[in-house]
Amino acid sequence: MNIVPHDHAFGRDQAIDAAFQPLDAPTDWDAVIRDAAQINPEALIAELRAGEPYAVNELNVLKTWRLNTKIRIAHRYRRGLPQHDKHTCASCGVRASVPTITREWRVGQCLHCEEMPMLFPAERMDRGPLFVAWDSASGTWGLAWQRGGVGDRDKTAAVVVIGFGSYWDAYASLIAPMRFATIYSRACPPGTSVDAGALTPAGELFQQTLPLTPERWVAFCREQMKKATPEGVEPYDWEIRQACDSFFGKSQD
Ligand SMILES: [Zn+2]
Repeated sequence: MNIVPHDHAFGRDQAIDAAFQPLDAPTDWDAVIRDAAQINPEALIAELRAGEPYAVNELNVLKTWRLNTKIRIAHRYRRGLPQHDKHTCASCGVRASVPTITREWRVGQCLHCEEMPMLFPAERMDRGPLFVAWDSASGTWGLAWQRGGVGDRDKTAAVVVIGFGSYWDAYASLIAPMRFATIYSRACPPGTSVDAGALTPAGELFQQTLPLTPERWVAFCREQMKKATPEGVEPYDWEIRQACDSFFGKSQD
C-alpha cells in the first residue's frame, strides 16, 4: 500500500482541481423522459425513504432532487400529463421547459438547466462584479465585469473572458473561485479560511490582456487560488488586512 503524503500543497491542489469539476456527470433527462414507462416510482420512493433523514450536504441535495424528479416524471407519464411545456427554457434557450418548474421562472426552465447549479455547488455565492454574459462581438458566452461606484470615475466595466462553448461552461468558470473557497475553507482551522473575493483581484485581472480565452482564465484563477492560500497563514489574517486597508482607504477593489 502506498502512503500519499497529505501536505498543504497536496490538499490545495486537490481543492483547486475539484473547484473546476462537476460533482457528477449531468443526467440525460431527454433519455429519462423517453423511457418514462420503464421507471418504477414505487421503487424510487422506497429508495428515497431508505436514506432518511438526509444530512444537508450538496451530494444529498443532488441525490434527492434526482430521485424526486424521476418519481414526478413517472407519475406524469402514468396520468398522461405532458413532460414538456410550450415555452423554451429561459436559461439555455434551447430545450423545452418543464411544466412544473414555474415557481421562479415565468416562462419555465428545462431539467438540464435546473440540475446544473447542483453540479457546481458553492456555499459562498459572493461572485462580486463578475457575471456570465453573451458577447455579441465574438458570438460566444463569456464573463463580464461591472462595478458601480459613488461617482462615474469609480465605475469599471469590461468583457473579461470570451469563447466559452455554452452558458454552463461559462457558469462553471465563474463559480470556480467560490467553489474553491468553499472546498478549501472546509479543511481550514477556524479563522484561516480563504475569501472568494481575494481570488479575482481587480488589479491583477486588469493587468492581463483582456478579454482572456477560457484556458487563460482557468490558469489565472489557479494562480490566484495558490497565492491566496499560503501555508501557515495566521488566523483572521485576511479579515485583519481587509479592515486595515479599508480604514486607511487603500482597498483596491
Ligand atoms: Zn435549459
